[in-house]
Amino acid sequence: MSLITAGTRLFAILGDPVEHSLSPVIQNAAFAEAGVDGVYVAIHCDAAGMVGFMSGLGRAGGGGNVTLPHKEKAATVVDKPSEAVRRTGACNTFWGQDGQIHGDNTDVEGFGRALLHFLAGPPEGFRVLLLGAGGAARAALMGLIDGEAADVLILNRTVERARAVARRIGGDRVRVAESPFDADDGSFDLVVNTTRLGLSAEDELPFDLERVSRAGAVMDLVYGPDSTPFVAAARRLGIPAVDGGEMLVHQGAVAFERWWGETASIHAMKSALQGARSLDAGA
Ligand code: NAP
Repeated sequence: MSLITAGTRLFAILGDPVEHSLSPVIQNAAFAEAGVDGVYVAIHCDAAGMVGFMSGLGRAGGGGNVTLPHKEKAATVVDKPSEAVRRTGACNTFWGQDGQIHGDNTDVEGFGRALLHFLAGPPEGFRVLLLGAGGAARAALMGLIDGEAADVLILNRTVERARAVARRIGGDRVRVAESPFDADDGSFDLVVNTTRLGLSAEDELPFDLERVSRAGAVMDLVYGPDSTPFVAAARRLGIPAVDGGEMLVHQGAVAFERWWGETASIHAMKSALQGARSLDAGA
């Protein structure tokens, strides 16, 4: 990291909890690689604290990210929401510009880029099973619709939440499963897990992949020190699978572009992530 001076821009990830976030690791690596004068930290805060930090950091010329459970609240407090914030109702990236707080939801573009990298092409014409209906599901659904997926079936524990997501972002290519039985024997080019199942070692799997007749690929948005249980289950069935580390790096790279107006080093971010994960696994 370069010398911290009075001109250094301060960035922070705001969340509750936030202690296990790897965003400081990947962002500080990208800052160092680009030689920009910034520093990135994590701040544990409640919703009221988050509003104060967003305003303070932005007005001081910095910015940051917002994570669980504040993304929806953050969308309501930015002065200049991007189209992704308006469509998803969630904001994960903010910065100050011309005296106003700008907000974006880089999970949308980050999901799209990670998927493009994983599939080596867009999900055009894909039949997709989308597990979950929270903030991450909204970003993934927008990425899938914009990527021209043909059909998305949303399966969520709380069906009404899935219906609300489908109403907000969907259109005629989105269906809602009333129960896991609706996915039985289905043929899917892609299964995406956006539930939080897999974050804790005690969690059950988000879905039994043996229920479907075909799952061409699996993308899990959850990440941890190792590949997630869902990714491991997919690979045991011979299904290509990737965890949320890929998306973490790409959404972070898009945020870096918003703050600094230049491209982030994906290589530096991935190396830092890999280093942090191996440290964690050895802890
Ligand atoms: P969220 O808004 O709180 O949504 C959580 C989702 O998980 C909901 O669909 C919820 O279902 C479901 N869920 C929670 N507990 C469950 C259980 N016991 N059984 C079944 N379903 C359960 O959270 P989020 O912001 O969408 O984040 C979800 C996950 O995505 C987190 O693990 C987060 O770290 C990850 N994520 C990763 C990235 C990345 O860059 N890799 C970016 C964003 C998010 P109900 O609606 O029924 O409660």
